[in-house]
Amino acid sequence: MSTTLTSQTRSLDELVSQFSVHRSTSPLPVEERVALTASPKFGTVFTDHMTRMTWTVDEGWHNRRVEPYGPLHMDPAAAVLHYGQEIFEGLKAYRHADGSVWSFRPEQNALRYALSARRLALPELPVDDFLGSVAALVRTDVDWVPSGEEASLYLRPFMIASEVFLGVRPTHEAEHLVIASPVGPYFDKGVHPVNIWISRDYARAGRGGTGEAKCGGNYAASLLPQQEAGKRGFDQVCFLDGGQTPALEELGGMNVFFVHDDGTVVTPALSGSILRGVTRSSIIQLLTDRGLTVREEHLTLDALRDGLEKGRIVEAFACGTAAVVTPIGRLADNDFDVTINNGESGTLTMDIRRELTDIQYGRRPDPHGWMTRLA
Ligand SMILES: *Cc1c(COP(=O)(O)O)cnc(C)c1O
Repeated sequence: MSTTLTSQTRSLDELVSQFSVHRSTSPLPVEERVALTASPKFGTVFTDHMTRMTWTVDEGWHNRRVEPYGPLHMDPAAAVLHYGQEIFEGLKAYRHADGSVWSFRPEQNALRYALSARRLALPELPVDDFLGSVAALVRTDVDWVPSGEEASLYLRPFMIASEVFLGVRPTHEAEHLVIASPVGPYFDKGVHPVNIWISRDYARAGRGGTGEAKCGGNYAASLLPQQEAGKRGFDQVCFLDGGQTPALEELGGMNVFFVHDDGTVVTPALSGSILRGVTRSSIIQLLTDRGLTVREEHLTLDALRDGLEKGRIVEAFACGTAAVVTPIGRLADNDFDVTINNGESGTLTMDIRRELTDIQYGRRPDPHGWMTRLA
């Protein structure tokens, strides 16, 4: 069995010291950085550096470095460009009031990255290297971590099959990179409920597929359904499992929860084709800490519709690192269209959102030891 799926074994300082830092000779002037990071649109502004590691069959992972951010020099026959052998992660660095910089459960992202790699037949990156590569970049570009309300530095580790080869088999060469993007609050006009279209025509994943891996291909499969739902006036799509009795899975990039009038909370069980959200598992813990019952279950569309139409489902929300928690105000498919909580943000939904962000921004104690100091 693989030996990489262990947790962090060495201190963060030691892990970061494995990376050689080649500083940019033309970092963005401070005034320009401040202007760019004032209210950036999600994923449009990037820091001065990126982390990079190379893997080959013969040498394993090597050449740990931080280098100036810039275009990748790639051969047009690189495997990733043809067969989509790619995975990614998403996590954030948060600045606390005392100026220190932290991340939220980064070891969970590291473990998931290794699982995604295994499913895509890419080399697993050891947890230590995942954490080291993230921390090395955050420390190099620490001035880029914003300090505004709900602002953060969004971190995007990703791995690509870089071998120049058009044959179909797992790559013999790969690159792991981390880039960073300062982001403001996900909702510029404050948190507001979204409308969800439940897709009966398309699936993003299926039994035995790659739904549990965080890979670009899953996102590519979700774009057309998303576009069609947009034309109908909906913000997001919720996907079903594609089974005989359709059951709910998740949105294109977020997990879903339903709050019932008896106080129980239901979320689709991890079926093998649902992404194991770090936000999802943290919310299950926080709800349980409050004494609420959380049921992870096979949630059929029929049961959902029944709960909605009889008014037993009183709140619904989606969750993920980028938007944290997003209230759902309306759910519809070809046969039904139901407004939840009069289309307004639910109380428990907003409470849990606040509790989670308070922990992430150091405004409240961290009872589960979820935060890791990066700088
Ligand atoms: C990343 C992602 C999520 C959310 O995961 P978090 O760890 O909470 O950010 C949910 N669903 C899909 C499909 C994802 O790719």
